[in-house]
Amino acid sequence: MMSIRGFRRGGVTLPQRMAFSHDPIENAFLPIHAKLTLRAAGSGKEARLLVSEGEELREGQLIARADGKGTTNAHSSIPGIVRRIVRGRSPDGTALNTVVVSLAGSFSISGKRPERYIWKSLNKTDILHLLQEKGVTQVSTGIPLYDLLHGKKDGGPVQLVVNALEMDPYRRVEEAILIHHPQELIDACDILNKILKPESIAIALDAGLQTAYIDALRSHAKDADLKIGIESFKRRYPQDMPQLIERALRDKRGAAGSMLCLEPSTLMALHEAVVSNKAHIEQYVYVGGGAIKEPRIVKARIGTSLGDLFEECGGFKGLPERVVINGPLCGSLAADLDSPIEKTTRSVLALCHEETHSGAEQPCVRCGACVKACPESLKPYLLYKLLIAGRANEAYDLGLARCTSCAACAYACWSRLPLVQLFDRHKAQGQNHAQ
Ligand code: SF4
Ligand code: SF4
Repeated sequence: MMSIRGFRRGGVTLPQRMAFSHDPIENAFLPIHAKLTLRAAGSGKEARLLVSEGEELREGQLIARADGKGTTNAHSSIPGIVRRIVRGRSPDGTALNTVVVSLAGSFSISGKRPERYIWKSLNKTDILHLLQEKGVTQVSTGIPLYDLLHGKKDGGPVQLVVNALEMDPYRRVEEAILIHHPQELIDACDILNKILKPESIAIALDAGLQTAYIDALRSHAKDADLKIGIESFKRRYPQDMPQLIERALRDKRGAAGSMLCLEPSTLMALHEAVVSNKAHIEQYVYVGGGAIKEPRIVKARIGTSLGDLFEECGGFKGLPERVVINGPLCGSLAADLDSPIEKTTRSVLALCHEETHSGAEQPCVRCGACVKACPESLKPYLLYKLLIAGRANEAYDLGLARCTSCAACAYACWSRLPLVQLFDRHKAQGQNHAQ
């Protein structure tokens, strides 16, 4: 019998708000205008622009080249004409160069039979170069995959973990990929095996996943002659955070080497780059929330606006109270419906009032629910009190820097205190001071 893992303390049990669907993941309509921001969210840097207004572009053409560590190549997700280059806004409201491409011309990728490269004849330097060239980015962080793998390839033993856990109530993208694309995921593991030679490869998945899907993964792994472990985790938020997965696995295996957690959507982008010679121009996104008529997962072109995706999913059935990117707990509010999806977008949610967990702030009643919820053994109510009183140094002494911003404490708080917002603000200030 397979044992089920989890973290030792803290966390909250959240309802799964997204019904599971066995339907294949469909491609979203191509956008009439694609807004392409010139950085992956989170890296803080921009790639070097290569195109100008009025220029015709092929589908997948390079429009900006990586300019040092933390930046990544960007490609046009549709064929068309560069309509404008503007200081736009990313979904979190940050000012950025945005290339607006209007759909025109013929398709060089869509509707064509995908190329299939014989990648096994490539050496690891060639594969890394391909990942860099195709702008493949780690979907959960926005870090260029080339940077991540290049740093690991000669840096001692690595344990590779495919993180298919989805503890956020509105996410099932990674699990859906695991179910619908097991062959591609195992191929991607095989490619990573060639680059990193990891000590072990494990797939972290929800203990509730049907065994038929696990058997399919095992069978493909056997065909590829790849040894892959299956690690089942009990459903408790924020178990999908890489540091908690790492802690749970280290408890079991001891501390051999560094751990690299990559989610299935990143592995799909890697697979398309190496096997199909395709740039990272698409993203698997869950479009949902209580205000959406027909919630579902789609594979959408980067640069598609949130408004277009909502429309494709039947539009609104009620007025959304909030539009959130990447989940209600750790995500960010969308600036507006024209905001585009990026390489780091995994869900876009139009939440109605009952889902926003909002309410008037009340004074702390010292109930201790936040302490019980914190997986890092912090005392969130005390950190909050110290920060409000301007005693940030004492909050750091009590471990503020260890806070992962998981928001389990805020979810558990009866008094609706904006705990995480305050922690994040102070941590960001702390980082700015340190730079
Ligand atoms: S956001 Fe920080 S303080 Fe709150 S539960 Fe998560 S780790 Fe603990
Ligand atoms: S959960 Fe909220 S009300 Fe309860 S102790 Fe923590 S901060 Fe105070």
